Amino acid sequence: MTRFVGHGRDEVTPAQELTPVEEHLQAILDSLPQPDPIELTILDALGLVLAADVTSDATLPPFANAAMDGYAVVAADLVDARVDEPVHLPVVGEVVAGAAEAPEVAPGRVVRIMTGAPLPPGADAVVPVETTSGDDGQIGFHRTVAPGEHVRRPGEDLEPGQVLLKSGRRVQPADIALLSAVGIPRVLCVPPPRVVVLSSGDELVQATREPGPGQIRDSNGPMLAAMVRAAGGIPFTTGIVPDDRKALMYAFDTNLGHADLFVCTGGASAGTRDLLPDVIGAMGEVRTAKVAMKPGMPQIRGRIGQTPVIGLPGNPVSAFVSFEVFVRPAIRRMQGRRDLTRPTVTARATEELRGAPNKRHFVRVRLARGAEGWAATPTGAQGSHVITSISSADGLAVVPEDRDAIAAGEQVRVQLLVDG
Ligand code: AMP
Ligand code: MG
Repeated sequence: MTRFVGHGRDEVTPAQELTPVEEHLQAILDSLPQPDPIELTILDALGLVLAADVTSDATLPPFANAAMDGYAVVAADLVDARVDEPVHLPVVGEVVAGAAEAPEVAPGRVVRIMTGAPLPPGADAVVPVETTSGDDGQIGFHRTVAPGEHVRRPGEDLEPGQVLLKSGRRVQPADIALLSAVGIPRVLCVPPPRVVVLSSGDELVQATREPGPGQIRDSNGPMLAAMVRAAGGIPFTTGIVPDDRKALMYAFDTNLGHADLFVCTGGASAGTRDLLPDVIGAMGEVRTAKVAMKPGMPQIRGRIGQTPVIGLPGNPVSAFVSFEVFVRPAIRRMQGRRDLTRPTVTARATEELRGAPNKRHFVRVRLARGAEGWAATPTGAQGSHVITSISSADGLAVVPEDRDAIAAGEQVRVQLLVDG
C-alpha cells in the first residue's frame, strides 16, 4: 500500500545558506525612499502621519462664555445667599449662543444666559438654572458663587502660539476637531505609498474567468492588493503577466511612473520559468535570498530606477506570510509610521507545533480565549498552497529557528493578523 507523505517535510537547508529574517527585513527597510510630503484637507489626512508640527495663533475658547444654562451674575451680589434665605435679583435681559453682543450686567441685576453664549460685560460668574428658584422676573439665588464659576475662560483650552500636533503624529478624529476649532483646513502629511502588485505565471487566469486545463485563478494578486490597502497603501495591479521576459519588462516599465513600491509574486524561485530575478537585475539591481523562514524561503529584493521591488514566492500561503513579515512593515515605514509590526500575544499551544530545521516556522493558528489566557490551535493542513489555512487564521504562531517543536501545553508567541 502506498502511503502519501504529507506536504511540508522540507529538505534541510544548511543554516549558513540562510539569511536571517531580521536581516532581510532590515535590508528592505533601508532601501525605502522617503516620500515627499503633501498637503491634504484635514479629513483626507485622517490616519496619516504629519510631516511637520502644526502650530496655531488661535485662542480656545476664543471668548469668555457660559458653561451652563442659567444666569450671568456679579458674584459679589450673592455673598449672603443661603439655601433657605435666597437673594432675589431682577432679570434684565437674555443672551443666547451666537449672540454678537450681550446686555450689561450691573450690580444687583442678572441676565439669563445659555450654554456657549458670551459672558455679558459686568458679569463674572454663571449660576446654573437648576440651583435657582422663581420666575423670569425675580430669581432666587440659594448659594454663593465664586468669580469665574461656570465660566469658560478664553485660552483655558489653548493659548496662542502653541504646537497643536507634533510632526510624526498619526491624525486621529479628535485632532480633526482641534484643527477645525482653530481654523486649519489643510495639513502637511506623509502620503500613502502607491504599491503596484504584479502577479506572474503562465498558469494564471483572472479570478473572474473559468480556468482551462492546467490553469488556476490568480488569488495572490487580489490578496496582495487587499493586504496593501489594509496596511494603509494605495494598491494598483498590473494584471496577470506571463512568464516571459519582455512581458515582465513591459509591466515594470509601464507602471514605474506611479509606483512607490513594486510587490511581485511568482517566478521567484529556481524553476526554468522563474524569470523575475533576471528581469529585475537587467532593469536595475536585484538580490535573491533564501530567508530562514517557513513558509516563504525564496525572497527577492531589488530596485528599478528609484522604486524598490520586493519579490514574494508564488504559493499563496508563502506570499501571505512573507507580505506580513516584510511588505507590511515596509508600507508602514513609507507612511512615516513607527509601529511597523503587529501586536503579539502569548498563547498556550493546544497541540504540538512542529518546527522547521534552521528556519522560523510561522504556523497559522486560530486563537481562543479561555480561563488560562489565549489558546492557539493550528488551522488544519499547513501546506503552502492551502488557502483555507490563512483565511481561517487569527495569527501566526512563531516556532523559533532553534526549536524542533513547541510541545502541546507550552507557551508560544503569536503575531496577530488583525489590528486592535
Ligand atoms: P512560483 O513562485 O511561480 O514557482 O509558484 C509557486 C506556486 O504558487 C505554484 O503552484 C503557482 O501556481 C502558485 N502561484 C503562483 N502565482 C500565483 C498566484 N498569483 N495566485 C495563486 N497561485 C499562484
Ligand atoms: Mg511560476
